[in-house]
Amino acid sequence: MTKQQLIYENVQAVKERIENAAKKAGRNPEDIHLVAATKMNDAECVKAAIKAGIKIAGENRVQELVEKYEQNAYKGANLHFIGSLQTNKVKFLVGKVQLIQSVDSEKLAGVIAKYAQKNGICQDILLEVNIAKEASKSGIYPEALPEIIENLCNIDGLRIRGLMAIPPISHFIGENLCHFDKMRELFIDISQKKYDNVSMDFLSMGMSGDFEDAISCGSNMVRVGTAIFGARPYMIK
Ligand SMILES: *Cc1c(COP(=O)(O)O)cnc(C)c1O
Repeated sequence: MTKQQLIYENVQAVKERIENAAKKAGRNPEDIHLVAATKMNDAECVKAAIKAGIKIAGENRVQELVEKYEQNAYKGANLHFIGSLQTNKVKFLVGKVQLIQSVDSEKLAGVIAKYAQKNGICQDILLEVNIAKEASKSGIYPEALPEIIENLCNIDGLRIRGLMAIPPISHFIGENLCHFDKMRELFIDISQKKYDNVSMDFLSMGMSGDFEDAISCGSNMVRVGTAIFGARPYMIK
């Protein structure tokens, strides 16, 4: 089987898993957005995924994104940024990506707003939540969210569209359910507060190993890499 065929089959299999998980949770599969996490996969692989029906590509590293962007890798799909972002790299993203999912501080959001204003656009973002409060991870602590949202909601050039989380790596099915559940509660709480200019449209959580559990807890955006492209080089021992 060629790499292209393999990616095609994998995309269909992931879609089927999403469909089954959605139905099991009594949800409409069409409400769940599949983001192909494309890190370390080249332009050819990204193009193959889009040809196989992927509508959103998610990149982790700015330099990799810019390189593949110049190779027209994302043609026919939306592009999201999902990796950790330094403020001095923001300028390379604004105008190229539909959604920056990984906004982990008020300061970063401010810089994004500045560049968006400069470009005369409004940048959609998600706030990244450090739901398990892991010291090794970035993300906003749940209790800090309300104040940050209040401070950000009326800034020009920026629109908060939801929340994103990367819980710990799970070793067995169900291990992250508690974190996903807490994310759902946060998401609902914030939705109900009806902040100006904030629309809680997307709850981005769930990866190859746990997206079914995430969907059972209300995720409507899953970010899937390995199950589409195979193991990344550093994962192969
Ligand atoms: C790599 C990555 C994913 C996908 O992880 P897999 O386990 O390969 O599906 C999802 N989200 C983010 C932020 C990532 O960096």
